Amino acid sequence: MKSINPYNNQLIKEYTPYTPAEVEKILVDVDQEWQSWKKLTVKERATMMLKVSEVLLENKESYAEMMALEMGKILKEARGEIEKCALLCRYYAESAEGILADKFVETDYSRSLVVHEPIGLVLAVMPWNFPFWQVIRFAVPCLVSGNGALLKHASNVQGCGLMVEEIFRKAGLPENIFRTLVIPSKQVEAVITNPLVRAVTLTGSEPAGMSVASTAGRQLKKSVMELGGSDPFIVLEDADLDKAVEVSVTSRALNVGQVCIAAKRFIVVESLAEEFTRKHGERMAALIMGDPLDEKTQLAPMSRPEFVEDIHAQVEKSVAMGAKLITGGKLIDSEGYFYPATVLADVKKGMPVYDEETFGPVSAIITVKDEEEAIRIANDTDFGLGAAVWTQDKERGERVARQIDCGMVFVNTLVASNPKLPFGGTKRSGYGRECSEHGLKEFTNVKTICVL
Ligand code: NAP
Repeated sequence: MKSINPYNNQLIKEYTPYTPAEVEKILVDVDQEWQSWKKLTVKERATMMLKVSEVLLENKESYAEMMALEMGKILKEARGEIEKCALLCRYYAESAEGILADKFVETDYSRSLVVHEPIGLVLAVMPWNFPFWQVIRFAVPCLVSGNGALLKHASNVQGCGLMVEEIFRKAGLPENIFRTLVIPSKQVEAVITNPLVRAVTLTGSEPAGMSVASTAGRQLKKSVMELGGSDPFIVLEDADLDKAVEVSVTSRALNVGQVCIAAKRFIVVESLAEEFTRKHGERMAALIMGDPLDEKTQLAPMSRPEFVEDIHAQVEKSVAMGAKLITGGKLIDSEGYFYPATVLADVKKGMPVYDEETFGPVSAIITVKDEEEAIRIANDTDFGLGAAVWTQDKERGERVARQIDCGMVFVNTLVASNPKLPFGGTKRSGYGRECSEHGLKEFTNVKTICVL
């Protein structure tokens, strides 16, 4: 398993996968640790997350640099990712005890209550695009609610995966309550089927989701799926156009477009379509490409070479089907895995950039007649992760938001995760929720106790 710098194609480090016997020993160690961990109070476990937050912030630069080297995240975004991880730790440190408190219900029994108990060892299969945030947003609520945690990180970010394991140790958590398994995806099935593992959460692509969810299903084990998206970004005729243009570029270009909740389909009413397309295209074309470690860089390389091939094929096929190339769309001769910021207009159903997730810096602009058509097209997708709506009439924005079949809608801003708010999707974007009280309760046994 190799970490390769996407900026220059140089090998950073090679990792030897753990053998099945090594994995088994780790599962036994975590299970043993869990026997005492589950007996701590929620408050005791939650308070430890304050120290996790401190460790994250104290070592922010080295974690950010590892992300830049292993998957090409620009430093400014990488530092922001670590700060957000620290924020999530503090949120659960302060709120978990209240969220998981016993709930008393009035019934015919003398006393009836609902309690939340840990379920055991939870495996997380995680992607490379937010190598710290994805892991922390699973691990912290999972641990605070009293479970043991196992991580199988994406093959190209093993350095980040091992750093997260070290963070929990440095913060004083028991040595084996969070363990990183250095294993390829073909070893995941054996971990899920191991009797010590009670549940699995996966963030990643649909094929990976289908494989892991079916393994979990065959074992009747709980699963949470955070999968892809093709988020609409609706611009209505009463939108603040310049603000919408500015945010549309941020939302599409962040992490070189390798974001599940990035705006991908820009659905613009015809009265604004020409101006939006021109301004969005100019701003996308002006983004500065370069080394993720260079503070001036705005558009880093993509994380793996095959992602450049995949996104270029989607662009070429869409252009061949009639999409109009406004900017970008040409391969770049470089040892790094660069792809230019690309904007396509006149996008129609049937084109890959309309039907599929575009995991790169490619905007698909779709012109519509009015609000009704915008909502119809926003919902005309297999995915249902996030959506953005732009209108200066806030009530209208909320009304439109309620008509979109997805997990999160943001009016007059970009879709973003927030530790306090549920994160997750509908349809082929998956099921289950992370963050907020819902994320904290995902891996608990909601137990009823009645006393006559
Ligand atoms: P991916 O190829 O599905 O990989 C994700 C993780 O799954 C990696 O750890 C990978 O391991 C593992 N994996 C792949 N195939 C597997 C299989 N058959 N069985 C078990 N494990 C398997 O996805 P990616 O390319 O890293 O990430 C991009 C995708 O993630 C996009 O679709 C994006 O939208 C989605 N995503 C969703 C969210 C969300 O919260 N909804 C957030 C971020 C990303 P290896 O690396 O070893 O193959």
